[in-house]
Amino acid sequence: MRIPLHVLRQWRPDQTRKTGYLPIDGIAPHLNESDYSTRIRPGTIIVFGERRAHEVIDVQERPLDLWPDLFNREWDRYTTWWAEQVLAGHDMGNQPEKSTWEHRPVVLSVRAADQPTAKPNHYAIRAGRTFYVLPEHYSVCRLCNEIPPCTHATTEAQVEHAVRRTDELMAIPAGACLFCGQAITSRMNATRFPGPNLWRPDLGNDSAVFHARRACEEGADSYRRQWQDKGHSELQAELPGAAGDDS
Ligand SMILES: [Zn+2]
Ligand SMILES: [Zn+2]
Repeated sequence: MRIPLHVLRQWRPDQTRKTGYLPIDGIAPHLNESDYSTRIRPGTIIVFGERRAHEVIDVQERPLDLWPDLFNREWDRYTTWWAEQVLAGHDMGNQPEKSTWEHRPVVLSVRAADQPTAKPNHYAIRAGRTFYVLPEHYSVCRLCNEIPPCTHATTEAQVEHAVRRTDELMAIPAGACLFCGQAITSRMNATRFPGPNLWRPDLGNDSAVFHARRACEEGADSYRRQWQDKGHSELQAELPGAAGDDS
């Protein structure tokens, strides 16, 4: 199974594109129910915790005097920031109210979707938080019970991706772009990084080079980050004609 790279960066379940909003005053007030968005209700199955399917039992506002400390601290920080904005002359609209703040805590009561008789667990979460909503006939990984792609699968895919990338990298000829592997002609703009070649030390000093084009930007950017971590900063931009071709 090949998992696309964007899923490795930010996990998203394979089997649903539906986002669920909490049934809480002021949250997504004009929501249109569709294949992509829905209101969470008792009985809705959501992905919660470590890629687990949970059945929603109940969602309740949390009384102001029972806010967890974390939320009180966030509220203080938010109102301080808000007051600063007003002082700075920005039009910030109505004074925010604690009881309608979109990041106020609400209590989500859920239980594992495959344990219908288990006692629900209760969590304080942000009112504006959204969840992936699963279909009734959702699937889980046979081995770990997670919603696919499971942690094993994404870790495996990450390792596989890294191995594939290493094989590709080792096949790049000297002087070619370290991202796409293609030659850099004298007419092309290129970005060259002085110093040891961090990805292909065998190519020698000053040999790390990338096409200066959008398609190869990702490679140059990730190389630049590693290169700067090593304490380098000055960058050499190679212009077309630098190799003596000034036609
Ligand atoms: Zn698994
Ligand atoms: Zn390239």
